Amino acid sequence: MPDSLTRIADDLYQAQLPLPFALRIVNCYLLRGRDGWTIVDTGIHTPEGEATWRSIFAELQLLPEHIEQIVLTHVHPDHFGMAGWLQAAAAANGRTISVKTSPLEQAQADRVWRSSELADNFVAYLADNGMPLAMAATVAGRMGDTRAMTFPHPPTIEVIQPATSIRLGDRLFQTIHAPGHSDGQLLFYDADDQLLLSGDHVLMKITPNIGLWRKSDPNPLVHFLESLHDLATLEVRLALPGHKTLITDWRGRIEELLQHHYDRLQTTLQALHAGATNPYTVSLAIFNTEHFSPHEWRFALAEALAHLEYLRQRGEINRIENGDVMHYHLL
Ligand SMILES: [Zn+2]
Repeated sequence: MPDSLTRIADDLYQAQLPLPFALRIVNCYLLRGRDGWTIVDTGIHTPEGEATWRSIFAELQLLPEHIEQIVLTHVHPDHFGMAGWLQAAAAANGRTISVKTSPLEQAQADRVWRSSELADNFVAYLADNGMPLAMAATVAGRMGDTRAMTFPHPPTIEVIQPATSIRLGDRLFQTIHAPGHSDGQLLFYDADDQLLLSGDHVLMKITPNIGLWRKSDPNPLVHFLESLHDLATLEVRLALPGHKTLITDWRGRIEELLQHHYDRLQTTLQALHAGATNPYTVSLAIFNTEHFSPHEWRFALAEALAHLEYLRQRGEINRIENGDVMHYHLL
């Protein structure tokens, strides 16, 4: 079996697709059923990604026309990027298959990937939050490079509603709305097997980026923390995440993530106390930015902004517009 393929159960495999970022790998999942294979999340579209899918298909003796459907936990580029390519491969072999995700993620895919609207306004978003203009231009430029790795796009994306059920392979899953990392992220829970396809909601070793982006949830952190509290009651034997290792201590990892964000809120308040005034300068206090790539700068700024807005919306800090740049301060 190639290194990129791991058997989880007789009908369930993990595929590790390469990413051209520090994150290095995204985990995708394949479920075998009577009517073919369901693929959950797809990787970003690069020649290395194509080669990886081809070697996985060869190992599983899976032809593109054996794919039944493609399901996306969310439409970040590392999950969405090869959906159109896989769909086109099935179509070239005579099978029409659908790409499915939640309504909010479908709308997000339209906004971010199909149009260049968001990339066009990205420099202003970064600069308004305090990032120096030259750095903001570099970061926004790299956004365009990332978008290029999401083509071809699926012509249509079908919708899976949260809080319903869906068959993936031959297993029946409940769909769970899990906001925070992305507004409409869906998790898939197989209650019979206590198995959860957990997307990027809960990860080992790293914490999912909780960022505040334009035209998105104005308080993603509060919804993330609420969702973690809810999900801590779910009986999960094994969670299959979008990155890093499988999760066997579901509740324990949720506790760690909750603690992480409470600590980070304290760090945010301390940064303001020490003189930081905007999301960019707060991000310098939160993160060790010495070796940051443009991608990491973008996530750091959005994460600092999410924590500042959480505190502001709880009435713990204030915000004023200081010229063009957002200015936060302690009460
Ligand atoms: Zn991801």
